[in-house]
Amino acid sequence: MERRLDPLGYKRIVRERRGSYEPLFASGVWRYRELLPPIDPTSIVSLAEGNMPLYEAPGGASYAGVDRLAYLHLGMNPTGSFKDLGMTVAVSAAKAAGMRGVVAASTGNTASSMAAYAARAGLEAHALVPRGRVTQAKLAQMLEYGARIVEVEGSFDDAFAQLDRVADGALQIVNSTNPFRLEGQKCAAFSILEQRGWHVPDWVVLPGGNLGNISAIGRGFREALELHLIDRLPRLALVRADAGTQTRATAIAVGIPQSRERASRELHESDGIELVASDEAIFAAKARIGREGIGCEPASAASLAGLRILRERGRVAPDADVVAVLTGHVLKDAGAVQHAAV
Ligand SMILES: *Cc1c(COP(=O)(O)O)cnc(C)c1O
Repeated sequence: MERRLDPLGYKRIVRERRGSYEPLFASGVWRYRELLPPIDPTSIVSLAEGNMPLYEAPGGASYAGVDRLAYLHLGMNPTGSFKDLGMTVAVSAAKAAGMRGVVAASTGNTASSMAAYAARAGLEAHALVPRGRVTQAKLAQMLEYGARIVEVEGSFDDAFAQLDRVADGALQIVNSTNPFRLEGQKCAAFSILEQRGWHVPDWVVLPGGNLGNISAIGRGFREALELHLIDRLPRLALVRADAGTQTRATAIAVGIPQSRERASRELHESDGIELVASDEAIFAAKARIGREGIGCEPASAASLAGLRILRERGRVAPDADVVAVLTGHVLKDAGAVQHAAV
């Protein structure tokens, strides 16, 4: 990367933008616009995404067996998942390119986010979803924002395989294979750092489905290092569902991750680790997160479940300073709570 900037000066600028009333800087993505692809401001479509809390979680820390744990709650975004961080950039780029609309295969959150940003931009939104495997809340969001929904028999992978049938030259694919998505999502790494006064955690733990998010967050930390905003990388831990496409954590019910190579690179660069968690472990962790007053959807809880497993195996030290990423809001899958309660 060739960008050069004065690290101290840049940290100050970002801080000032956080407090400014300039609408663009209400976004925790566009506040970092020097680090994003250049897009004409008149094409930028934003819903003030990217202002996520970093919650201290002593209950989660004792559950996992570490001294210090905080949750970056990406479910506290406009449509309730981290997809908004990437979608603001991807839809802005599609608008700037004069596209008629956008299209995505989705287990629900990508399409909810796409639908909202497309509506905001005045673009068509087309969602390909696996029939019967998308929660009511996510379908409701898609409908509310005016997306056209095509239900596909099978799993997410089957829906993804049909994308080319729907996409034409004027419909931009906004799955996480779209490079603009990853550029926006890398801002989650900046958010963690900024909220910690640029102190790097020892570990960042996150759930993975298509592995776009770990690719993006890994890139964010590496860019921060290259720009001398930080002096070392956190280690990344990627937690996938043991049950694969059959997991009840539907947001990570993916068989063939589309960003496998990028993710493997980030794991390698950060001296990271990949593991799987059972649905039982994921739902137990989810209940524990809820008892601290912080709701999340099942897939998100894979991070706490995975951290606990890593501690049990001695792969993470007890005095580690850990950030676990929660990826989606509890109301995205209210059924999962009710199911677990009976
Ligand atoms: C999309 C999503 C994931 C998986 O992210 P990938 O980038 O596909 O690895 C995890 N949790 C939630 C809530 C999601 O919406």
